Amino acid sequence: MELRFLGGASTVTGSQYLLVTDRAKVLVDCGMFQGSPNESARNRVPFAFDPKEIDALILTHAHLDHCGLIPHLVAEGFKGPIFATKGTLELANLVLIDSAKLQQEFADRTARRARRDPARAARDERRGHKALDAALAAAEGTDPEALLRAQTPHVHLDMGAPLYLEADVVRTMALFKPLAYSAEFAVASGIRGTLFDAGHILGSAMIRLTVREGGTDTTIVFSGDLGRNDTPIIRDPTALTAADHIVVESTYGGREHEPETEALRVLSETVRLVAERKGVMLVPSFAIGRTQEVVFQLDRLIESGAIPHLPLYLDSPMASKATEIYRHHAEYFDDETKALLARTGDPLDYPGAVVTSDVEASKKIRDAPRPYLIVASNGMLTGGRVLYHLRDLIDDPSAVILFVGYQGQGTLGSHLQQGVKTVTLMGESREVRCTIRSISGFSAHADESELLAWIGRFAKGKKAGDPGFPRTVFIVHGDPEAQRALEPKIRALGLTTKVPAWREVVPLR
Ligand SMILES: [Zn+2]
Repeated sequence: MELRFLGGASTVTGSQYLLVTDRAKVLVDCGMFQGSPNESARNRVPFAFDPKEIDALILTHAHLDHCGLIPHLVAEGFKGPIFATKGTLELANLVLIDSAKLQQEFADRTARRARRDPARAARDERRGHKALDAALAAAEGTDPEALLRAQTPHVHLDMGAPLYLEADVVRTMALFKPLAYSAEFAVASGIRGTLFDAGHILGSAMIRLTVREGGTDTTIVFSGDLGRNDTPIIRDPTALTAADHIVVESTYGGREHEPETEALRVLSETVRLVAERKGVMLVPSFAIGRTQEVVFQLDRLIESGAIPHLPLYLDSPMASKATEIYRHHAEYFDDETKALLARTGDPLDYPGAVVTSDVEASKKIRDAPRPYLIVASNGMLTGGRVLYHLRDLIDDPSAVILFVGYQGQGTLGSHLQQGVKTVTLMGESREVRCTIRSISGFSAHADESELLAWIGRFAKGKKAGDPGFPRTVFIVHGDPEAQRALEPKIRALGLTTKVPAWREVVPLR
Protein backbone atom coordinates (compact mmCIF):
# COMPACT_ATOMS: atom_id res chain seq x y z
CA MET A 1 0.00 0.00 0.00
CA GLU A 2 1.34 3.43 -0.84
CA LEU A 3 0.42 7.10 -0.94
CA ARG A 4 1.39 9.31 -3.85
CA PHE A 5 1.55 13.04 -3.18
CA LEU A 6 0.51 14.52 -6.50
CA GLY A 7 -0.44 18.02 -5.40
CA GLY A 8 -0.72 20.12 -2.28
CA ALA A 9 2.80 18.95 -1.41
CA SER A 10 5.03 21.83 -0.27
CA THR A 11 2.41 24.23 -1.59
CA VAL A 12 -1.13 25.24 -0.61
CA THR A 13 -2.76 24.53 -3.95
CA GLY A 14 -3.39 21.60 -6.29
CA SER A 15 -4.38 19.09 -3.57
CA GLN A 16 -4.22 15.57 -4.98
CA TYR A 17 -3.36 12.39 -3.10
CA LEU A 18 -3.52 8.89 -4.54
CA LEU A 19 -3.87 5.81 -2.35
CA VAL A 20 -2.76 2.64 -4.12
CA THR A 21 -3.49 -0.78 -2.61
CA ASP A 22 -3.27 -4.30 -4.03
CA ARG A 23 -6.88 -4.03 -5.12
CA ALA A 24 -7.71 -0.37 -5.72
CA LYS A 25 -6.60 3.13 -6.62
CA VAL A 26 -8.42 5.91 -4.81
CA LEU A 27 -7.84 9.61 -5.31
CA VAL A 28 -8.43 12.16 -2.56
CA ASP A 29 -9.09 15.60 -4.08
CA CYS A 30 -8.04 16.70 -7.54
CA GLY A 31 -7.44 20.41 -7.20
CA MET A 32 -6.13 23.14 -9.40
CA PHE A 33 -2.71 24.68 -8.87
CA GLN A 34 -3.10 28.42 -8.47
CA GLY A 35 -0.86 31.41 -7.95
CA SER A 36 2.40 32.16 -9.73
CA PRO A 37 2.89 31.06 -13.38
CA ASN A 38 5.30 28.33 -12.21
CA GLU A 39 2.60 27.01 -9.93
CA SER A 40 -0.27 27.09 -12.40
CA ALA A 41 1.89 25.50 -15.12
CA ARG A 42 1.61 22.29 -13.07
CA ASN A 43 -2.00 22.01 -14.18
CA ARG A 44 -0.62 21.25 -17.64
CA VAL A 45 1.64 18.43 -16.51
CA PRO A 46 -0.03 15.13 -17.46
CA PHE A 47 -1.59 13.15 -14.61
CA ALA A 48 0.85 10.82 -12.86
CA PHE A 49 -1.50 7.89 -13.56
CA ASP A 50 -4.02 6.74 -16.11
CA PRO A 51 -7.34 8.36 -15.07
CA LYS A 52 -9.20 5.28 -16.38
CA GLU A 53 -7.52 3.16 -13.69
CA ILE A 54 -8.79 5.24 -10.76
CA ASP A 55 -11.59 3.40 -8.94
CA ALA A 56 -13.03 6.32 -7.00
CA LEU A 57 -12.45 9.92 -6.03
CA ILE A 58 -13.29 11.43 -2.65
CA LEU A 59 -13.57 15.19 -2.44
CA THR A 60 -12.93 17.03 0.85
CA HIS A 61 -14.55 20.32 -0.16
CA ALA A 62 -15.51 22.59 -3.03
CA HIS A 63 -12.64 25.11 -3.12
CA LEU A 64 -11.02 25.22 -6.57
CA ASP A 65 -7.62 24.16 -5.25
CA HIS A 66 -9.25 20.87 -4.14
CA CYS A 67 -11.76 20.17 -6.94
CA GLY A 68 -10.60 22.31 -9.89
CA LEU A 69 -9.01 19.54 -11.99
CA ILE A 70 -11.78 16.96 -11.63
CA PRO A 71 -13.40 17.80 -15.00
CA HIS A 72 -9.95 17.47 -16.58
CA LEU A 73 -9.67 14.03 -14.92
CA VAL A 74 -13.08 13.12 -16.34
CA ALA A 75 -12.14 14.46 -19.79
CA GLU A 76 -9.06 12.19 -19.63
CA GLY A 77 -11.15 9.09 -18.94
CA PHE A 78 -12.07 8.87 -15.22
CA LYS A 79 -15.51 7.25 -14.88
CA GLY A 80 -15.68 6.23 -11.21
CA PRO A 81 -17.85 7.61 -8.43
CA ILE A 82 -17.03 10.96 -6.78
CA PHE A 83 -17.90 10.85 -3.08
CA ALA A 84 -18.62 14.11 -1.23
CA THR A 85 -21.24 15.72 0.98
CA LYS A 86 -24.38 17.24 -0.54
CA GLY A 87 -23.13 20.74 0.31
CA THR A 88 -19.83 20.06 -1.47
CA LEU A 89 -21.64 18.68 -4.51
CA GLU A 90 -23.72 21.85 -4.90
CA LEU A 91 -20.84 24.23 -4.29
CA ALA A 92 -18.50 22.24 -6.57
CA ASN A 93 -21.00 22.54 -9.40
CA LEU A 94 -20.86 26.32 -9.01
CA VAL A 95 -17.07 26.45 -8.75
CA LEU A 96 -16.43 24.15 -11.71
CA ILE A 97 -18.89 25.80 -14.10
CA ASP A 98 -17.30 29.13 -13.20
CA SER A 99 -13.83 27.68 -13.72
CA ALA A 100 -14.74 26.33 -17.18
CA LYS A 101 -16.15 29.75 -18.14
CA LEU A 102 -13.07 31.59 -16.88
CA GLN A 103 -10.79 29.28 -18.82
CA GLN A 104 -12.79 29.82 -22.00
CA GLU A 105 -12.72 33.60 -21.48
CA PHE A 106 -9.00 33.48 -20.86
CA ALA A 107 -8.47 31.45 -24.03
CA ASP A 108 -10.55 33.90 -26.08
CA ARG A 109 -8.67 36.85 -24.61
CA THR A 110 -5.32 35.23 -25.35
CA ALA A 111 -6.36 34.55 -28.94
CA ARG A 112 -7.54 38.16 -29.41
CA ARG A 113 -4.31 39.51 -27.99
CA ALA A 114 -2.27 37.23 -30.21
CA ARG A 115 -3.99 38.73 -33.24
CA ARG A 116 -3.44 42.28 -31.97
CA ASP A 117 0.12 41.93 -30.70
CA PRO A 118 1.78 38.78 -32.06
CA ALA A 119 5.18 39.69 -30.62
CA ARG A 120 3.87 39.98 -27.09
CA ALA A 121 1.81 36.81 -27.49
CA ALA A 122 4.93 34.95 -28.60
CA ARG A 123 6.76 36.29 -25.54
CA ASP A 124 3.93 35.19 -23.24
CA GLU A 125 3.89 31.78 -24.84
CA ARG A 126 7.64 31.35 -24.41
CA ARG A 127 7.24 32.34 -20.75
CA GLY A 128 4.38 29.86 -20.36
CA HIS A 129 6.41 27.05 -21.84
CA LYS A 130 9.38 27.90 -19.65
CA ALA A 131 7.11 27.57 -16.60
CA LEU A 132 5.76 24.30 -17.98
CA ASP A 133 9.29 22.98 -18.56
CA ALA A 134 10.15 23.87 -14.97
CA ALA A 135 7.05 22.06 -13.73
CA LEU A 136 7.89 19.02 -15.87
CA ALA A 137 11.44 19.02 -14.54
CA ALA A 138 10.09 19.09 -10.97
CA ALA A 139 7.76 16.20 -11.80
CA GLU A 140 10.57 14.21 -13.40
CA GLY A 141 12.64 14.53 -10.25
CA THR A 142 10.39 12.11 -8.40
CA ASP A 143 8.37 10.16 -10.92
CA PRO A 144 9.95 8.23 -13.78
CA GLU A 145 6.51 7.55 -15.23
CA ALA A 146 5.97 11.29 -15.61
CA LEU A 147 9.32 11.63 -17.34
CA LEU A 148 8.19 9.23 -20.04
CA ARG A 149 4.89 11.00 -20.42
CA ALA A 150 6.56 14.39 -20.50
CA GLN A 151 8.34 13.39 -23.69
CA THR A 152 5.11 12.87 -25.56
CA PRO A 153 4.49 15.77 -27.92
CA HIS A 154 1.02 16.58 -26.57
CA VAL A 155 2.60 18.21 -23.53
CA HIS A 156 3.67 21.07 -25.74
CA LEU A 157 0.10 22.08 -26.07
CA ASP A 158 -1.45 25.49 -26.28
CA MET A 159 -0.86 26.95 -22.82
CA GLY A 160 -3.85 29.23 -23.20
CA ALA A 161 -6.35 26.52 -24.19
CA PRO A 162 -9.02 25.59 -21.60
CA LEU A 163 -8.19 22.48 -19.58
CA TYR A 164 -11.86 21.55 -19.84
CA LEU A 165 -15.20 22.80 -21.07
CA GLU A 166 -18.61 23.20 -19.48
CA ALA A 167 -19.66 19.91 -21.07
CA ASP A 168 -16.93 18.16 -19.07
CA VAL A 169 -18.29 19.75 -15.90
CA VAL A 170 -21.76 18.43 -16.70
CA ARG A 171 -20.32 14.90 -17.14
CA THR A 172 -18.38 15.35 -13.89
CA MET A 173 -21.42 16.32 -11.84
CA ALA A 174 -23.23 13.16 -12.98
CA LEU A 175 -20.55 11.09 -11.21
CA PHE A 176 -21.12 12.65 -7.77
CA LYS A 177 -22.54 10.45 -4.98
CA PRO A 178 -23.75 12.72 -2.17
CA LEU A 179 -23.11 11.43 1.35
CA ALA A 180 -23.93 12.40 4.92
CA TYR A 181 -21.30 13.02 7.58
CA SER A 182 -20.32 10.09 9.82
CA ALA A 183 -21.92 7.37 7.68
CA GLU A 184 -19.48 4.69 6.54
CA PHE A 185 -19.54 3.86 2.82
CA ALA A 186 -17.81 1.42 0.46
CA VAL A 187 -15.18 3.36 -1.52
CA ALA A 188 -13.58 0.62 -3.62
CA SER A 189 -12.55 -3.00 -3.25
CA GLY A 190 -11.16 -3.43 0.30
CA ILE A 191 -11.57 0.26 1.22
CA ARG A 192 -14.26 1.83 3.39
CA GLY A 193 -14.59 5.56 4.02
CA THR A 194 -16.26 8.02 6.37
CA LEU A 195 -16.63 11.81 6.05
CA PHE A 196 -16.48 14.02 9.13
CA ASP A 197 -17.22 17.72 9.46
CA ALA A 198 -14.00 19.71 8.89
CA GLY A 199 -15.49 23.08 9.87
CA HIS A 200 -13.79 24.85 6.94
CA ILE A 201 -16.61 25.81 4.53
CA LEU A 202 -20.15 24.52 4.02
CA GLY A 203 -20.02 20.76 3.41
CA SER A 204 -16.27 20.48 4.03
CA ALA A 205 -15.05 17.11 5.22
CA MET A 206 -12.12 15.27 6.65
CA ILE A 207 -11.85 11.72 5.35
CA ARG A 208 -11.14 8.48 7.20
CA LEU A 209 -10.21 5.54 4.99
CA THR A 210 -9.96 2.01 6.34
CA VAL A 211 -8.01 -0.35 4.12
CA ARG A 212 -8.29 -4.12 4.60
CA GLU A 213 -5.19 -5.93 3.40
CA GLY A 214 -4.06 -9.43 4.43
CA GLY A 215 -6.65 -9.58 7.20
CA THR A 216 -5.61 -6.35 8.92
CA ASP A 217 -7.12 -2.89 8.80
CA THR A 218 -5.07 0.25 8.23
CA THR A 219 -6.67 3.62 8.88
CA ILE A 220 -5.65 6.81 7.11
CA VAL A 221 -7.14 10.17 8.08
CA PHE A 222 -6.97 13.14 5.69
CA SER A 223 -7.63 16.41 7.50
CA GLY A 224 -8.68 18.21 4.32
CA ASP A 225 -8.60 21.94 4.98
CA LEU A 226 -9.04 22.09 8.72
CA GLY A 227 -11.35 24.78 10.05
CA ARG A 228 -11.41 26.42 13.46
CA ASN A 229 -13.47 26.16 16.57
CA ASP A 230 -16.03 28.85 17.32
CA THR A 231 -16.12 30.48 13.88
CA PRO A 232 -19.50 31.76 12.73
CA ILE A 233 -22.05 29.97 10.54
CA ILE A 234 -20.78 26.38 10.30
CA ARG A 235 -20.00 23.75 12.92
CA ASP A 236 -16.60 23.12 14.48
CA PRO A 237 -14.12 20.59 13.07
CA THR A 238 -14.53 17.00 14.30
CA ALA A 239 -12.02 15.78 16.88
CA LEU A 240 -10.78 12.34 15.80
CA THR A 241 -8.61 10.27 18.11
CA ALA A 242 -7.18 7.27 16.25
CA ALA A 243 -5.44 6.57 12.93
CA ASP A 244 -2.47 4.64 11.58
CA HIS A 245 -1.47 7.50 9.29
CA ILE A 246 -2.53 11.15 9.16
CA VAL A 247 -2.30 13.49 6.19
CA VAL A 248 -2.64 16.96 7.67
CA GLU A 249 -2.74 20.42 6.15
CA SER A 250 -0.26 23.03 7.38
CA THR A 251 -1.29 26.34 5.80
CA TYR A 252 -0.74 28.29 9.01
CA GLY A 253 2.22 26.35 10.41
CA GLY A 254 4.34 28.73 12.49
CA ARG A 255 1.57 31.27 12.77
CA GLU A 256 -1.22 32.11 15.17
CA HIS A 257 -4.43 33.92 14.28
CA GLU A 258 -5.31 36.98 16.23
CA PRO A 259 -8.37 36.45 18.44
CA GLU A 260 -11.75 37.08 16.85
CA THR A 261 -12.21 40.18 19.01
CA GLU A 262 -9.06 41.66 17.48
CA ALA A 263 -10.23 40.76 13.97
CA LEU A 264 -13.54 42.48 14.61
CA ARG A 265 -11.74 45.50 16.04
CA VAL A 266 -9.59 45.88 12.89
CA LEU A 267 -12.61 45.35 10.66
CA SER A 268 -14.73 48.00 12.41
CA GLU A 269 -11.83 50.42 12.64
CA THR A 270 -11.17 50.04 8.91
CA VAL A 271 -14.82 50.63 8.02
CA ARG A 272 -14.87 53.75 10.21
CA LEU A 273 -11.60 54.99 8.64
CA VAL A 274 -13.04 54.55 5.14
CA ALA A 275 -16.23 56.38 6.21
CA GLU A 276 -14.16 59.29 7.55
CA ARG A 277 -11.89 59.48 4.50
CA LYS A 278 -14.86 59.12 2.17
CA GLY A 279 -12.89 56.31 0.63
CA VAL A 280 -13.38 52.76 -0.54
CA MET A 281 -12.69 49.52 1.30
CA LEU A 282 -11.91 46.64 -1.04
CA VAL A 283 -12.00 43.14 0.44
CA PRO A 284 -10.53 40.50 -1.87
CA SER A 285 -12.38 37.43 -0.77
CA PHE A 286 -12.83 33.79 -1.61
CA ALA A 287 -16.34 33.50 -2.99
CA ILE A 288 -17.07 30.51 -0.82
CA GLY A 289 -16.63 30.72 2.91
CA ARG A 290 -14.82 34.00 3.44
CA THR A 291 -17.40 36.19 1.70
CA GLN A 292 -20.28 34.76 3.74
CA GLU A 293 -18.32 35.19 6.96
CA VAL A 294 -17.23 38.77 6.24
CA VAL A 295 -20.79 39.76 5.32
CA PHE A 296 -22.06 37.98 8.44
CA GLN A 297 -19.60 39.94 10.63
CA LEU A 298 -20.35 43.29 8.96
CA ASP A 299 -24.04 42.67 9.52
CA ARG A 300 -23.42 41.92 13.23
CA LEU A 301 -21.27 45.09 13.56
CA ILE A 302 -23.99 47.27 12.05
CA GLU A 303 -26.53 45.61 14.33
CA SER A 304 -24.43 46.40 17.41
CA GLY A 305 -23.81 49.98 16.26
CA ALA A 306 -20.02 49.48 16.00
CA ILE A 307 -19.84 50.66 12.38
CA PRO A 308 -21.84 53.02 10.18
CA HIS A 309 -24.06 51.39 7.58
CA LEU A 310 -22.11 52.05 4.36
CA PRO A 311 -23.24 50.83 0.94
CA LEU A 312 -21.84 47.39 0.20
CA TYR A 313 -21.19 46.06 -3.31
CA LEU A 314 -21.00 42.31 -3.52
CA ASP A 315 -19.13 41.95 -6.77
CA SER A 316 -18.92 38.22 -7.21
CA PRO A 317 -21.82 36.41 -8.84
CA MET A 318 -20.33 33.17 -7.60
CA ALA A 319 -20.28 34.43 -4.01
CA SER A 320 -23.95 35.39 -4.28
CA LYS A 321 -24.85 31.97 -5.63
CA ALA A 322 -22.77 30.33 -2.91
CA THR A 323 -24.64 32.34 -0.28
CA GLU A 324 -27.88 30.96 -1.72
CA ILE A 325 -26.53 27.43 -1.28
CA TYR A 326 -25.52 28.27 2.31
CA ARG A 327 -29.07 29.50 2.95
CA HIS A 328 -30.53 26.22 1.70
CA HIS A 329 -28.35 24.15 3.99
CA ALA A 330 -29.13 25.38 7.48
CA GLU A 331 -28.61 21.75 8.59
CA TYR A 332 -24.84 22.45 8.39
CA PHE A 333 -25.08 25.57 10.58
CA ASP A 334 -23.84 25.67 14.16
CA ASP A 335 -26.28 26.23 17.03
CA GLU A 336 -25.54 29.98 17.31
CA THR A 337 -26.30 30.60 13.64
CA LYS A 338 -29.42 28.45 13.79
CA ALA A 339 -30.62 30.58 16.73
CA LEU A 340 -29.78 33.77 14.82
CA LEU A 341 -31.65 32.45 11.82
CA ALA A 342 -34.73 31.89 13.97
CA ARG A 343 -34.39 35.36 15.51
CA THR A 344 -33.38 37.63 12.60
CA GLY A 345 -34.53 35.69 9.56
CA ASP A 346 -31.29 35.86 7.58
CA PRO A 347 -27.90 36.18 9.24
CA LEU A 348 -26.14 35.99 5.84
CA ASP A 349 -27.70 39.20 4.57
CA TYR A 350 -26.19 42.72 4.55
CA PRO A 351 -28.97 45.32 4.57
CA GLY A 352 -29.30 46.92 1.14
CA ALA A 353 -26.25 45.17 -0.35
CA VAL A 354 -25.92 45.73 -4.09
CA VAL A 355 -25.29 42.43 -5.84
CA THR A 356 -23.73 42.95 -9.25
CA SER A 357 -24.88 40.57 -11.93
CA ASP A 358 -22.67 41.46 -14.90
CA VAL A 359 -19.40 43.10 -15.83
CA GLU A 360 -21.11 46.38 -16.76
CA ALA A 361 -22.64 46.69 -13.28
CA SER A 362 -19.24 45.82 -11.84
CA LYS A 363 -17.55 48.62 -13.82
CA LYS A 364 -20.15 51.14 -12.63
CA ILE A 365 -19.19 50.63 -8.99
CA ARG A 366 -16.28 53.04 -9.45
CA ASP A 367 -18.75 55.90 -10.12
CA ALA A 368 -20.77 55.26 -6.95
CA PRO A 369 -20.76 58.04 -4.34
CA ARG A 370 -18.13 57.40 -1.66
CA PRO A 371 -17.68 56.05 0.94
CA TYR A 372 -18.53 52.44 0.17
CA LEU A 373 -17.35 48.86 0.57
CA ILE A 374 -16.64 46.23 -2.09
CA VAL A 375 -16.28 42.52 -1.51
CA ALA A 376 -14.96 40.89 -4.69
CA SER A 377 -13.25 37.64 -5.58
CA ASN A 378 -10.83 36.17 -5.88
CA GLY A 379 -9.13 36.24 -2.53
CA MET A 380 -5.46 36.00 -3.56
CA LEU A 381 -5.74 38.52 -6.41
CA THR A 382 -4.79 35.84 -8.92
CA GLY A 383 -7.74 36.73 -11.15
CA GLY A 384 -11.39 37.72 -11.13
CA ARG A 385 -13.19 41.04 -10.90
CA VAL A 386 -11.22 42.13 -7.86
CA LEU A 387 -8.33 42.96 -10.19
CA TYR A 388 -10.36 45.65 -11.99
CA HIS A 389 -11.19 47.31 -8.68
CA LEU A 390 -7.58 47.02 -7.64
CA ARG A 391 -6.54 48.76 -10.84
CA ASP A 392 -8.87 51.65 -9.92
CA LEU A 393 -7.77 51.86 -6.30
CA ILE A 394 -4.12 50.82 -6.06
CA ASP A 395 -2.74 54.40 -6.17
CA ASP A 396 -5.68 56.01 -4.39
CA PRO A 397 -4.61 57.12 -0.89
CA SER A 398 -8.20 57.12 0.35
CA ALA A 399 -8.67 53.43 -0.49
CA VAL A 400 -7.99 50.48 1.79
CA ILE A 401 -7.34 46.94 0.60
CA LEU A 402 -8.32 44.62 3.43
CA PHE A 403 -7.08 41.03 3.22
CA VAL A 404 -9.11 38.48 5.15
CA GLY A 405 -7.61 35.21 3.90
CA TYR A 406 -4.34 33.42 3.26
CA GLN A 407 -2.11 34.85 0.54
CA GLY A 408 -0.04 32.07 -1.09
CA GLN A 409 3.68 32.59 -1.64
CA GLY A 410 4.43 34.54 -4.82
CA THR A 411 0.89 35.87 -5.28
CA LEU A 412 0.17 39.56 -5.83
CA GLY A 413 -1.71 39.54 -2.52
CA SER A 414 1.33 38.33 -0.62
CA HIS A 415 3.56 40.96 -2.29
CA LEU A 416 1.13 43.69 -1.24
CA GLN A 417 1.03 42.34 2.31
CA GLN A 418 4.82 42.49 2.42
CA GLY A 419 4.61 46.20 1.63
CA VAL A 420 5.99 46.45 -1.91
CA LYS A 421 5.82 49.99 -3.30
CA THR A 422 5.20 49.12 -6.95
CA VAL A 423 3.41 46.17 -8.52
CA THR A 424 2.74 44.89 -12.00
CA LEU A 425 -1.00 44.91 -12.42
CA MET A 426 -2.53 43.55 -15.63
CA GLY A 427 0.74 44.16 -17.43
CA GLU A 428 1.27 47.71 -16.12
CA SER A 429 3.68 48.90 -13.47
CA ARG A 430 1.72 50.71 -10.75
CA GLU A 431 2.57 52.56 -7.59
CA VAL A 432 0.96 51.31 -4.36
CA ARG A 433 -0.53 54.34 -2.57
CA CYS A 434 -3.62 52.82 -0.98
CA THR A 435 -3.57 51.46 2.56
CA ILE A 436 -3.01 47.71 2.94
CA ARG A 437 -4.42 45.93 5.97
CA SER A 438 -4.77 42.28 6.89
CA ILE A 439 -6.98 40.35 9.24
CA SER A 440 -6.07 36.75 9.99
CA GLY A 441 -8.77 36.19 12.61
CA PHE A 442 -11.39 35.35 9.96
CA SER A 443 -9.31 32.59 8.49
CA ALA A 444 -11.08 29.38 7.53
CA HIS A 445 -7.91 27.49 8.43
CA ALA A 446 -6.73 26.33 11.82
CA ASP A 447 -3.65 28.18 13.07
CA GLU A 448 -0.61 26.40 14.47
CA SER A 449 -1.98 25.83 17.98
CA GLU A 450 -5.26 24.58 16.53
CA LEU A 451 -3.45 22.23 14.13
CA LEU A 452 -1.36 20.87 17.00
CA ALA A 453 -4.43 20.46 19.21
CA TRP A 454 -6.20 18.50 16.46
CA ILE A 455 -3.15 16.27 15.82
CA GLY A 456 -2.42 15.93 19.55
CA ARG A 457 -5.67 14.08 20.20
CA PHE A 458 -4.42 11.13 18.14
CA ALA A 459 -1.40 10.77 20.44
CA LYS A 460 -3.05 11.60 23.75
CA GLY A 461 -2.76 8.88 26.41
CA LYS A 462 -0.96 6.55 23.97
CA LYS A 463 2.59 5.74 23.01
CA ALA A 464 4.26 4.62 19.80
CA GLY A 465 3.07 1.10 18.91
CA ASP A 466 -0.30 1.43 20.67
CA PRO A 467 -3.37 0.87 18.48
CA GLY A 468 -4.57 4.15 17.01
CA PHE A 469 -1.25 5.93 17.64
CA PRO A 470 -0.29 7.35 14.22
CA ARG A 471 2.79 5.76 12.66
CA THR A 472 3.28 8.73 10.30
CA VAL A 473 2.00 12.27 10.12
CA PHE A 474 2.32 13.53 6.55
CA ILE A 475 2.48 17.31 6.48
CA VAL A 476 0.91 18.67 3.30
CA HIS A 477 -0.90 21.74 1.96
CA GLY A 478 1.55 24.35 3.23
CA ASP A 479 4.28 26.57 1.92
CA PRO A 480 7.76 25.21 2.85
CA GLU A 481 8.34 27.83 5.54
CA ALA A 482 5.10 26.87 7.33
CA GLN A 483 5.97 23.18 7.12
CA ARG A 484 9.46 23.73 8.52
CA ALA A 485 7.95 25.61 11.45
CA LEU A 486 5.27 23.02 12.18
CA GLU A 487 7.22 19.78 11.78
CA PRO A 488 9.37 19.93 14.96
CA LYS A 489 6.30 20.74 17.04
CA ILE A 490 4.47 17.65 15.76
CA ARG A 491 7.58 15.59 16.54
CA ALA A 492 7.56 17.02 20.05
CA LEU A 493 4.20 15.24 20.49
CA GLY A 494 6.11 11.97 20.01
CA LEU A 495 4.92 11.50 16.44
CA THR A 496 6.91 10.59 13.34
CA THR A 497 6.58 13.16 10.55
CA LYS A 498 7.18 13.31 6.84
CA VAL A 499 6.98 16.31 4.51
CA PRO A 500 6.45 14.74 1.09
CA ALA A 501 7.78 16.38 -2.06
CA TRP A 502 5.59 16.89 -5.10
CA ARG A 503 4.95 13.54 -6.80
CA GLU A 504 6.73 11.60 -4.06
CA VAL A 505 5.56 8.01 -3.59
CA VAL A 506 5.64 6.76 0.02
CA PRO A 507 4.97 3.14 1.03
CA LEU A 508 2.67 2.87 4.07
CA ARG A 509 3.93 0.57 6.79
ZN1 LIG B 1 -10.31 25.26 1.27
